[in-house]
Amino acid sequence: MGTDRRAMEGASGLLGDGKKAVKIHHLVKAPENSPQSISRRESWDATKPATVYKTPEMLQDGTSCTAATVILRTRGCVWWWKSGCTFCGYFNDVRDDVTANDLFAQWEESKRLTNDFEGCKMVKVYTSGTFFEDQENPPEWQEMVLKETYERGLELVVEAQAHLCNPEKLAWVAKRHPGCTVAIGLEAYDDTVLRFHCNKGFSTKTWRQSVDNLREAGLRVKTYLLFKPPFMSEGDALNLTSKWLGQVAPLSDEVSINPMNIQKNTVVDRIFRNREYRPPWLWSLVEMIERTHDQIIDSDCRTIVHPTAGGRIRGAHNCKKCDAEVVAAIERYSVSRDLREFKGLDCECKKVWKTEIENDLSLPVPMGQGRDRRLSRVDIVRAP
Ligand code: SF4
Ligand SMILES: [Zn+2]
Repeated sequence: MGTDRRAMEGASGLLGDGKKAVKIHHLVKAPENSPQSISRRESWDATKPATVYKTPEMLQDGTSCTAATVILRTRGCVWWWKSGCTFCGYFNDVRDDVTANDLFAQWEESKRLTNDFEGCKMVKVYTSGTFFEDQENPPEWQEMVLKETYERGLELVVEAQAHLCNPEKLAWVAKRHPGCTVAIGLEAYDDTVLRFHCNKGFSTKTWRQSVDNLREAGLRVKTYLLFKPPFMSEGDALNLTSKWLGQVAPLSDEVSINPMNIQKNTVVDRIFRNREYRPPWLWSLVEMIERTHDQIIDSDCRTIVHPTAGGRIRGAHNCKKCDAEVVAAIERYSVSRDLREFKGLDCECKKVWKTEIENDLSLPVPMGQGRDRRLSRVDIVRAP
């Protein structure tokens, strides 16, 4: 039996040659780690932030404001260095030699670029990982950002991984900036999807615990859901994300649904370039909003759908002709929460989308049956 199996493995090569298995992230990161790639990636100045911009936002009490978003260049997410989520391209802004002095300089530069946060009542500080993780960001720098924003009356949003939201650290954060918002990339409220589609590194149980810990510390909970992770069909993405939204909204102060936008050199980028993955249709987002509207409209939870790179080939898109109009309606809905934003929206491509959803749901095929798949139709349906 053993010999037969080895012979079979040798013949097919499919089951490996007995050496330690190569993990998917090694394969994906391999080209990223070539000397040329590293030098290009690390050519940036560590004393300058990656991006700083202002956008319209809503304060905790529901009034409109301007928010500054500051994306810093840091050592990056501990999880990414170990393994990393299948869709995360934040590594382009990280490097393991960023010092505390660099981060202080980046913060000063961010203030200079925004004229000392002129006109802003909210600041979002994004560090490509967990803001309050001490290996990623020096605690003295965390402390300065928390205190300074609090003393200046600026609402603060930071990001974190669920398993790093432990009571001790959250109490430390809350003491320095009471009531700030912690955004967690939950992506999917389903352990199988978290593990096999997202490679997220934590479970739904851990996320629920982190929500309890945040509430205990008096901090606000913002939850990100990812619409259409890799290896998922359009039909499943629509049904599952609509369900998850209904489940996580009652536990969160805010839910932001992020339709997949493909970042370079990630796992999802690989399957996208191989024509095995299409970013979500904008029609799916409209359908999800319409399905969940009644359920979440009366809750205190604010939901936002923001199609980053909407209408582009690497972001959520339809047929090109109707993209701008549908993206605008989705953006308007996030502010007005009024379904009339979608009234009268139509296009020829809606039929194609509808057929794809019906096919995906009637004959489930891994990765879906969209027209963009490169394989022959017969092979797609036969795929295990
Ligand atoms: S936890 Fe966040 S920062 Fe880290 S790899 Fe995943 S998506 Fe990227
Ligand atoms: Zn169209």
